Amino acid sequence: MAIPAHLTTTPPASPPSAPPARRDFLPFSPPLIGEEEIAEVVDTLRSGWITSGPKTKRFEQDFGGFVGAPTGGALALNSCTAALHTALVTAGIEPGAEVITTPMTFAASVNVIEHVGARPVLVDVEPDTLNIDPARVAAAVTPRTRAVLPVHFAGHPVALDEINEIARAHGLTVIEDAAHALPASYRGRRIGSGTNPAAFSFYATKNLTTGEGGMLTGETAFVERARIVALHGMSRDAWKRYDRGGHWFYEVVLPGFKYNMPDIQAALGLWQLRKLGGFQERRHAVVRAYDDAFGDNDALELPARRVEVEHAWHLYVLRLRPDALTIGRDAFIEELRHRNIGTSVHFIPIHLHPYYRAKYQYRPDSFPIAFGNYERMLSLPLNPRLSDADVTDVIEAVLDVVRRYRR
Ligand SMILES: *Cc1c(COP(=O)(O)O)cnc(C)c1O
Repeated sequence: MAIPAHLTTTPPASPPSAPPARRDFLPFSPPLIGEEEIAEVVDTLRSGWITSGPKTKRFEQDFGGFVGAPTGGALALNSCTAALHTALVTAGIEPGAEVITTPMTFAASVNVIEHVGARPVLVDVEPDTLNIDPARVAAAVTPRTRAVLPVHFAGHPVALDEINEIARAHGLTVIEDAAHALPASYRGRRIGSGTNPAAFSFYATKNLTTGEGGMLTGETAFVERARIVALHGMSRDAWKRYDRGGHWFYEVVLPGFKYNMPDIQAALGLWQLRKLGGFQERRHAVVRAYDDAFGDNDALELPARRVEVEHAWHLYVLRLRPDALTIGRDAFIEELRHRNIGTSVHFIPIHLHPYYRAKYQYRPDSFPIAFGNYERMLSLPLNPRLSDADVTDVIEAVLDVVRRYRR
């Protein structure tokens, strides 16, 4: 997608300045699927049960156990977007309600608020973590506020104590967008283990992937209601109707959605979950290498981390210091691309997208912290497929661009 000219900081440098050090392009975030996942999918295809069934049930139990969700408090769905939408409907968020959320997120977090006819109320982020700022959440509460939808940006948990306290004081539901937060902890508690509904993503680029997929965790009674909302509003799901001992009768108690995860996807998730510890070890090692390489460079700002959290390191968001460089972020990305290093930007803030910009009459400086950081951020490759040589290539490319364009 082309970035509107008025949003770019500097025109791309032309021509790019150096021959590529790497022969092949390093993609930003390819999935890591092994033979175990492939065999499990094939087993599903041969089993006679290819939609939601025994493997989805087992994946829910394994995942719930892993994050420490209450018993029966994990619901596998076909995306994180579906999980967020289901959570909003289950929480009774309706037209006329306001939901406070962050501009520094993927569109899905905010689109779902529009889907239920509520008004997303954006508030700016903290300058260090780029997570939603609890003080601004408190200031944005009105008599119409019904929920807060914080996003654990990049895998760094939000200030949950402060947000939960605001919610408690005003009777609000907190729905956590935990798409990046697997596994992450806040004050020793895993994200997904609390009483707030939390929505995880298993999209192809996420820390655990099922191709497409998601999980909603929360209190048992909430998740039981969500299960009905997410499957046509039916009082009993297909597995219970078509299994031995099942019965044909069901009742539709509300006009629900078709958001269930099939066993073909759960088959991938079962093995990805078993491998997650190893994936995370590799992510942490890459983060340490980047930190060591960039930590004392005055043109670069490292991702923040606070002592009370365990970071999931879904993203490594590097920020450029414009005062130290003669090029901006866009040109920096082009220089890295020329060196065969794939990067990305997380995120184009919500208020810059045409739909939201027009509907709520936002200007770029409506959320100056989100906007200012957007203009100088880029996400470096961070995934368990990276070899030591790949990591060295990324580091050398970044340092080379900094050297060439130092002010
Ligand atoms: C990826 C992502 C989502 C959407 O996840 P899907 O599983 O693709 O629906 C939502 N929120 C954030 C912050 C994300 O990065």
